[in-house]
Amino acid sequence: MLDLHSHTTASDGVLRPSGLVRAARQAGVRTLAVTDHDTLSGLAEARRAGAELGVEILDGVEISTVDARKTSIHVLGYLFDPSSPALTEVLSRAQGGREARNLAIAARLNSLGMPIDLARVRALAEGTVGRPHFARVMVSEGYVASMEDAFDLWLGDGKPAYVPEGALTPRDAVDALRAAGGVAVLAHPLSNGRSPDHALAELRRAAKDGFDGAEVYYRSHTPGEVKMLASFAAQNGLIGTGGSDTHVLPWTHAPALPATTLERLRAKAARARTSAP
Ligand SMILES: [Zn+2]
Ligand SMILES: [Zn+2]
Repeated sequence: MLDLHSHTTASDGVLRPSGLVRAARQAGVRTLAVTDHDTLSGLAEARRAGAELGVEILDGVEISTVDARKTSIHVLGYLFDPSSPALTEVLSRAQGGREARNLAIAARLNSLGMPIDLARVRALAEGTVGRPHFARVMVSEGYVASMEDAFDLWLGDGKPAYVPEGALTPRDAVDALRAAGGVAVLAHPLSNGRSPDHALAELRRAAKDGFDGAEVYYRSHTPGEVKMLASFAAQNGLIGTGGSDTHVLPWTHAPALPATTLERLRAKAARARTSAP
Protein backbone atom coordinates (compact mmCIF):
# COMPACT_ATOMS: atom_id res chain seq x y z
CA MET A 1 0.00 0.00 0.00
CA LEU A 2 1.13 3.51 -0.89
CA ASP A 3 0.74 6.47 1.50
CA LEU A 4 2.02 9.88 0.41
CA HIS A 5 1.26 12.01 3.50
CA SER A 6 2.50 11.58 7.09
CA HIS A 7 4.05 13.49 9.98
CA THR A 8 6.65 12.79 12.67
CA THR A 9 8.01 14.59 15.73
CA ALA A 10 10.12 16.64 13.28
CA SER A 11 6.89 18.66 12.98
CA ASP A 12 3.59 18.03 14.77
CA GLY A 13 3.32 14.23 14.68
CA VAL A 14 3.60 12.25 17.92
CA LEU A 15 5.85 9.43 16.63
CA ARG A 16 9.55 9.70 15.98
CA PRO A 17 10.42 8.99 12.33
CA SER A 18 11.52 5.41 13.19
CA GLY A 19 8.30 4.82 15.15
CA LEU A 20 6.21 6.17 12.30
CA VAL A 21 7.87 3.83 9.81
CA ARG A 22 7.30 0.88 12.15
CA ALA A 23 3.62 1.83 12.55
CA ALA A 24 3.30 2.22 8.78
CA ARG A 25 4.68 -1.24 8.22
CA GLN A 26 2.25 -2.71 10.75
CA ALA A 27 -0.58 -0.89 8.97
CA GLY A 28 0.42 -2.52 5.67
CA VAL A 29 2.07 0.52 4.08
CA ARG A 30 4.96 -0.51 1.83
CA THR A 31 5.79 2.89 0.33
CA LEU A 32 5.59 5.92 2.60
CA ALA A 33 6.26 9.60 2.01
CA VAL A 34 7.25 11.46 5.18
CA THR A 35 5.93 15.01 4.73
CA ASP A 36 6.68 17.08 7.82
CA HIS A 37 5.64 20.73 7.92
CA ASP A 38 8.36 23.05 6.61
CA THR A 39 11.27 20.77 7.47
CA LEU A 40 13.27 17.84 6.08
CA SER A 41 14.82 17.02 9.46
CA GLY A 42 12.94 13.74 9.98
CA LEU A 43 13.88 12.21 6.63
CA ALA A 44 17.29 10.72 7.41
CA GLU A 45 15.98 8.72 10.38
CA ALA A 46 12.90 7.64 8.40
CA ARG A 47 15.09 6.40 5.53
CA ARG A 48 17.29 4.40 7.93
CA ALA A 49 14.23 2.81 9.56
CA GLY A 50 12.72 2.13 6.14
CA ALA A 51 15.85 0.31 5.00
CA GLU A 52 15.79 -1.82 8.15
CA LEU A 53 12.09 -2.63 8.03
CA GLY A 54 11.59 -3.00 4.30
CA VAL A 55 9.42 0.09 3.83
CA GLU A 56 10.28 2.28 0.84
CA ILE A 57 10.62 5.86 2.12
CA LEU A 58 10.05 8.82 -0.18
CA ASP A 59 11.45 12.19 0.81
CA GLY A 60 8.56 14.60 1.25
CA VAL A 61 7.63 17.93 2.77
CA GLU A 62 4.46 19.95 3.41
CA ILE A 63 5.08 23.67 2.96
CA SER A 64 2.80 26.24 4.66
CA THR A 65 1.69 29.03 2.35
CA VAL A 66 -1.08 31.63 2.14
CA ASP A 67 -2.77 32.64 -1.10
CA ALA A 68 -3.95 36.09 -2.19
CA ARG A 69 -7.31 35.46 -0.45
CA LYS A 70 -5.52 34.81 2.87
CA THR A 71 -6.50 31.14 2.64
CA SER A 72 -3.99 28.70 4.07
CA ILE A 73 -2.68 26.42 1.31
CA HIS A 74 -0.47 23.44 2.15
CA VAL A 75 1.89 22.41 -0.62
CA LEU A 76 3.19 18.83 -0.58
CA GLY A 77 6.52 18.24 -2.29
CA TYR A 78 8.08 14.97 -3.50
CA LEU A 79 11.03 13.70 -5.58
CA PHE A 80 13.11 16.82 -4.91
CA ASP A 81 16.84 17.13 -4.23
CA PRO A 82 16.96 17.70 -0.44
CA SER A 83 20.18 19.70 -0.74
CA SER A 84 18.69 22.21 -3.19
CA PRO A 85 19.49 25.80 -2.11
CA ALA A 86 16.14 27.06 -3.48
CA LEU A 87 14.24 24.59 -1.33
CA THR A 88 16.38 25.25 1.75
CA GLU A 89 15.71 28.97 1.38
CA VAL A 90 11.96 28.58 1.09
CA LEU A 91 11.84 26.22 4.09
CA SER A 92 13.78 28.65 6.25
CA ARG A 93 11.35 31.42 5.25
CA ALA A 94 8.43 29.14 6.15
CA GLN A 95 10.05 28.39 9.52
CA GLY A 96 10.53 32.12 10.18
CA GLY A 97 6.86 32.66 9.40
CA ARG A 98 5.90 29.87 11.79
CA GLU A 99 7.89 31.38 14.65
CA ALA A 100 6.17 34.76 14.19
CA ARG A 101 2.86 32.93 13.97
CA ASN A 102 3.43 31.03 17.21
CA LEU A 103 4.18 34.29 19.05
CA ALA A 104 0.97 35.76 17.59
CA ILE A 105 -1.12 32.72 18.62
CA ALA A 106 0.25 32.95 22.19
CA ALA A 107 -0.59 36.67 22.31
CA ARG A 108 -4.08 35.99 20.94
CA LEU A 109 -4.76 33.27 23.55
CA ASN A 110 -3.47 35.54 26.29
CA SER A 111 -5.88 38.30 25.25
CA LEU A 112 -8.69 35.72 25.26
CA GLY A 113 -7.99 34.90 28.91
CA MET A 114 -5.93 31.76 28.25
CA PRO A 115 -2.35 32.66 29.13
CA ILE A 116 -0.01 30.02 27.69
CA ASP A 117 3.65 29.62 28.46
CA LEU A 118 5.30 29.40 25.03
CA ALA A 119 8.23 27.52 26.58
CA ARG A 120 5.83 24.70 27.53
CA VAL A 121 4.45 24.62 23.99
CA ARG A 122 7.99 24.47 22.58
CA ALA A 123 8.98 21.75 25.04
CA LEU A 124 6.27 19.49 23.57
CA ALA A 125 7.69 19.86 20.08
CA GLU A 126 10.88 18.11 19.08
CA GLY A 127 10.85 19.93 15.77
CA THR A 128 8.44 22.40 14.21
CA VAL A 129 5.98 23.95 16.68
CA GLY A 130 2.38 23.96 15.48
CA ARG A 131 -1.21 24.35 16.64
CA PRO A 132 -1.51 20.78 18.02
CA HIS A 133 1.18 21.65 20.56
CA PHE A 134 -0.83 24.70 21.68
CA ALA A 135 -3.92 22.51 21.89
CA ARG A 136 -2.16 20.03 24.19
CA VAL A 137 -1.10 22.79 26.59
CA MET A 138 -4.65 24.22 26.52
CA VAL A 139 -6.01 20.81 27.52
CA SER A 140 -3.47 20.38 30.31
CA GLU A 141 -4.26 23.91 31.60
CA GLY A 142 -7.96 22.99 31.68
CA TYR A 143 -8.96 25.71 29.19
CA VAL A 144 -10.61 23.09 26.97
CA ALA A 145 -11.71 19.49 27.47
CA SER A 146 -10.01 18.03 24.40
CA MET A 147 -7.72 18.69 21.44
CA GLU A 148 -10.82 18.76 19.19
CA ASP A 149 -12.40 21.47 21.35
CA ALA A 150 -9.19 23.50 21.24
CA PHE A 151 -9.42 23.55 17.43
CA ASP A 152 -13.21 23.80 17.11
CA LEU A 153 -13.52 26.67 19.60
CA TRP A 154 -10.25 28.58 19.36
CA LEU A 155 -7.39 27.50 17.10
CA GLY A 156 -9.12 26.28 13.93
CA ASP A 157 -9.19 28.36 10.74
CA GLY A 158 -11.33 31.46 11.29
CA LYS A 159 -11.66 30.86 15.07
CA PRO A 160 -10.75 33.59 17.62
CA ALA A 161 -7.15 32.45 18.21
CA TYR A 162 -6.50 31.63 14.55
CA VAL A 163 -3.52 33.37 12.97
CA PRO A 164 -2.90 32.82 9.25
CA GLU A 165 0.36 31.13 8.29
CA GLY A 166 3.63 32.62 7.04
CA ALA A 167 4.60 34.86 4.23
CA LEU A 168 5.08 32.34 1.43
CA THR A 169 2.67 32.13 -1.48
CA PRO A 170 1.76 28.78 -3.07
CA ARG A 171 3.75 29.90 -6.12
CA ASP A 172 6.91 30.37 -3.99
CA ALA A 173 6.64 26.78 -2.79
CA VAL A 174 5.90 25.39 -6.26
CA ASP A 175 8.83 27.28 -7.79
CA ALA A 176 11.25 26.08 -5.09
CA LEU A 177 10.13 22.46 -5.46
CA ARG A 178 10.47 22.73 -9.24
CA ALA A 179 13.95 24.25 -8.89
CA ALA A 180 14.83 21.31 -6.64
CA GLY A 181 13.77 18.88 -9.38
CA GLY A 182 10.60 17.82 -7.55
CA VAL A 183 6.83 17.97 -7.93
CA ALA A 184 4.21 20.02 -6.04
CA VAL A 185 0.84 18.74 -4.90
CA LEU A 186 -2.09 20.69 -3.42
CA ALA A 187 -2.87 19.16 0.00
CA HIS A 188 -6.38 18.33 1.29
CA PRO A 189 -8.49 20.62 -0.95
CA LEU A 190 -11.63 19.93 1.11
CA SER A 191 -10.12 20.65 4.54
CA ASN A 192 -11.55 23.20 6.97
CA GLY A 193 -15.06 22.71 5.67
CA ARG A 194 -14.30 23.92 2.14
CA SER A 195 -17.23 23.42 -0.20
CA PRO A 196 -16.95 21.50 -3.49
CA ASP A 197 -17.14 24.84 -5.37
CA HIS A 198 -14.32 26.24 -3.25
CA ALA A 199 -12.24 23.09 -3.82
CA LEU A 200 -12.80 23.27 -7.57
CA ALA A 201 -11.73 26.93 -7.62
CA GLU A 202 -8.63 25.99 -5.64
CA LEU A 203 -7.73 23.20 -8.05
CA ARG A 204 -8.08 25.61 -10.99
CA ARG A 205 -5.79 28.12 -9.29
CA ALA A 206 -3.35 25.33 -8.42
CA ALA A 207 -3.17 24.25 -12.06
CA LYS A 208 -2.42 27.87 -13.06
CA ASP A 209 0.22 28.15 -10.32
CA GLY A 210 2.08 25.17 -11.79
CA PHE A 211 1.07 22.43 -9.35
CA ASP A 212 1.52 18.87 -10.63
CA GLY A 213 -1.14 17.18 -8.54
CA ALA A 214 -3.82 17.46 -5.87
CA GLU A 215 -4.80 15.22 -2.98
CA VAL A 216 -7.83 13.24 -4.04
CA TYR A 217 -7.45 10.07 -1.93
CA TYR A 218 -7.30 11.74 1.48
CA ARG A 219 -8.13 10.06 4.77
CA SER A 220 -11.32 12.03 5.46
CA HIS A 221 -12.69 11.98 1.90
CA THR A 222 -15.85 9.95 1.27
CA PRO A 223 -16.11 7.78 -1.87
CA GLY A 224 -18.32 10.52 -3.40
CA GLU A 225 -15.74 13.20 -2.65
CA VAL A 226 -12.95 11.06 -4.09
CA LYS A 227 -14.92 10.65 -7.31
CA MET A 228 -15.68 14.37 -7.52
CA LEU A 229 -12.09 15.45 -6.79
CA ALA A 230 -10.68 12.85 -9.20
CA SER A 231 -12.74 14.39 -11.98
CA PHE A 232 -11.84 17.99 -10.97
CA ALA A 233 -8.15 16.99 -10.94
CA ALA A 234 -8.35 15.31 -14.36
CA GLN A 235 -10.17 18.34 -15.84
CA ASN A 236 -7.32 20.55 -14.68
CA GLY A 237 -4.46 18.26 -15.73
CA LEU A 238 -3.50 17.47 -12.13
CA ILE A 239 -2.40 14.03 -10.92
CA GLY A 240 -4.66 12.75 -8.13
CA THR A 241 -2.50 11.72 -5.16
CA GLY A 242 -3.26 11.08 -1.53
CA GLY A 243 -2.43 9.73 1.86
CA SER A 244 -3.45 9.35 5.45
CA ASP A 245 -1.95 12.59 6.88
CA THR A 246 -1.10 10.46 9.92
CA HIS A 247 -0.09 12.51 12.96
CA VAL A 248 -1.14 10.05 15.68
CA LEU A 249 -2.09 6.39 15.86
CA PRO A 250 -4.19 4.47 14.97
CA TRP A 251 -3.20 4.66 11.32
CA THR A 252 -6.34 5.60 9.38
CA HIS A 253 -5.85 4.68 5.75
CA ALA A 254 -6.85 6.97 2.93
CA PRO A 255 -8.94 5.44 0.12
CA ALA A 256 -6.54 3.35 -2.01
CA LEU A 257 -4.52 5.32 -4.55
CA PRO A 258 -4.22 4.09 -8.14
CA ALA A 259 -1.05 1.97 -8.41
CA THR A 260 0.29 4.25 -11.16
CA THR A 261 0.26 7.43 -9.01
CA LEU A 262 3.92 7.35 -8.13
CA GLU A 263 4.98 6.47 -11.67
CA ARG A 264 3.01 9.44 -12.99
CA LEU A 265 4.62 11.80 -10.45
CA ARG A 266 8.07 10.45 -11.36
CA ALA A 267 7.42 10.93 -15.07
CA LYS A 268 6.25 14.49 -14.44
CA ALA A 269 9.36 15.31 -12.38
CA ALA A 270 11.62 13.78 -15.04
CA ARG A 271 9.92 15.77 -17.83
CA ALA A 272 10.25 19.01 -15.84
CA ARG A 273 13.95 18.32 -15.21
CA THR A 274 14.79 17.70 -18.87
CA SER A 275 12.86 20.78 -20.05
CA ALA A 276 14.45 23.03 -17.38
CA PRO A 277 16.77 25.75 -18.70
ZN1 LIG B 1 -1.84 20.05 5.81
ZN1 LIG C 1 -0.16 17.06 6.71
